Amino acid sequence: QRIDHIRNFSIIAHIDHGKSTLADRLIQATGGLTDREMTGNAQVLDNMDIERERGITIKAQTVRLAWKGYELNLMDTPGHVDFAYEVSRSLAACEGALLVVDAAQGVEAQTLANVYQSIEHDHEIVPVINKIDLPAADPEGVRQEIEEIIGLDASEAVLASAKTGIGIEEILQAIVDKIPPPKGDAAAPLKAMLVDSWYDPYLGVVILVRVIDGTLKKGAQVKFMAAGTTHLVDRVGCFRPKIEQLSELGPGEIGFITAQIKEVAETRVGDTITDAKRPAAAALPGFKEVQPVVFCGLFPVDANDFEKLRDSLYKLRLNDASFSFETESSAALGFGFRCGFLGLLHLEIIQERLTREYDLDLITTAPSVVYRMHLTHSKNEDAKTIELHNPADMPDPNRIESIEEPWILATIYTPDEYLGGILKLCQDRRGIQKELTYVGSGSHARALLKYELPLNEVVFDFYDRLKSISKGYASFDYEQIGHREGDLVKMSILVNEEPVDALSMIVHRGTAEARGRGMCERLKELIPRHLFKIPIQAAIGGKVIARETISAMRKDVTAKCYGGDATRKRKLLEKQKKGKARMREYGNVSIPQEAFIAALRMG
Ligand code: GDP
Ligand code: MG
Repeated sequence: QRIDHIRNFSIIAHIDHGKSTLADRLIQATGGLTDREMTGNAQVLDNMDIERERGITIKAQTVRLAWKGYELNLMDTPGHVDFAYEVSRSLAACEGALLVVDAAQGVEAQTLANVYQSIEHDHEIVPVINKIDLPAADPEGVRQEIEEIIGLDASEAVLASAKTGIGIEEILQAIVDKIPPPKGDAAAPLKAMLVDSWYDPYLGVVILVRVIDGTLKKGAQVKFMAAGTTHLVDRVGCFRPKIEQLSELGPGEIGFITAQIKEVAETRVGDTITDAKRPAAAALPGFKEVQPVVFCGLFPVDANDFEKLRDSLYKLRLNDASFSFETESSAALGFGFRCGFLGLLHLEIIQERLTREYDLDLITTAPSVVYRMHLTHSKNEDAKTIELHNPADMPDPNRIESIEEPWILATIYTPDEYLGGILKLCQDRRGIQKELTYVGSGSHARALLKYELPLNEVVFDFYDRLKSISKGYASFDYEQIGHREGDLVKMSILVNEEPVDALSMIVHRGTAEARGRGMCERLKELIPRHLFKIPIQAAIGGKVIARETISAMRKDVTAKCYGGDATRKRKLLEKQKKGKARMREYGNVSIPQEAFIAALRMG
């Protein structure tokens, strides 16, 4: 009876197409927030500053709406591919989705990637064409695009403006009419999916759940099947979006629990929560342990900040169990941490939060993917396979039988005119073209490209290059498709004949020379002249593949530059002295920290 009046749905959209605005509007229309609470430009569902600024949702938030006797659970999903597994669990907790497409922009890469995932989860999809208030809106064209590109019937798509409020009632009605209610057995043993969790300073770890069967009650002793732990449920509730405590969650319902859990790391997205006394026979399908795929070193610019950095990393990890860190020391950069992330955006978010919220000045080494190395046996060890997270730990090349690198399937969606440049970029990055389709015509002509690419070639500056080639118009999305063998080698950078560990990287043999040359040229510009000549080399094993030389400087540069101006001279000397603390010595060569930063920034 009650379950018939539940609808669980998510909103899928390309970034900026109006997902958050629509969510807020639905909350407002159903009385979750007063008009006064709605004003102010802060969106209710996006919590953290960075999310708001970038318009992405990092942690899923879910809201329960009450409308005409129905309980509508709106599941907000993380807005980026790095969090693909979290997205998949959120989608698995719903029976349907609102597909929001901007009436002026039309279908984009993220729309496609998300909608296909939603279809995979057997969702009933309700198309919504948003922003029809815009002068440039072309709802008819977009309706056709949805049908043509995605293959969905869009004849009943709701025309809406989340900004002005047009179409909101129709959307609510479509949710009730088109999205099926959940199914579940109230009499069966408890089975609930752990959809998400986060740390709340007042509540401790909050767990978002979707009950499949049975009832999740306050005071119950529950078992997390994958983690193998038991906990006492001390709160049950939902968000409207304000917290509302309940006594229980029944089958089909989405809500939260707390269970005196101290760390988010104790909870695993996708885990099955069951009754400790009357457990379910089998866990829910689809549980997966997420693993970091991109690694980089994070070093404090000021060595005295090391402890502060460690502390900050611990604090961040309280709320994000998906990134990892361990101490690392580098001759060039001192003490820091090797950190693992779910993807590049994830890396950027953590880096930015450290800088902004924790006020740390950081050096980030070039991101590296996880390589799988098959080693032959050595004197003391058997043949084995290792995972390499740091080029500095590269084993003896003689022992390497083969190396595998992770690949992705990229979906790129671009206005036709930039296609040539993008094809070249993908080609240069060892891409394998899988699909090229044209959609639309005239000024709206676009190409949909699918490329298999080594992740290694994407982590450097692929996204930036794509954006610059397409003047920001191309959109990009990707999924991981596993490891493949590659002709990969470690390239070292030597300054005055000495290898600089922070600059070594693993590259494909075919692109090594170009990469090496680029790095040598950059370093030549970045390292100040010394009293002697400094060779800068890129080498594979013992073989030099690129070389630049910094010529020697004549003595007394201050006298030459500034003639007799004493104050300017003093200032320059002071500046040099200050800079000295940040210099590292390499075979008698002082490399300013800034040179490392700049060299690493450019990959
Ligand atoms: P999200 O990235 O999908 O969550 O998109 P947002 O909800 O953050 O919206 C992106 C931008 O589009 C914001 O500046 C919104 O104010 C604006 N926006 C959202 N919906 C509408 C709409 O219906 N009409 C207009 N004109 N702007 C909208
Ligand atoms: Mg948003």
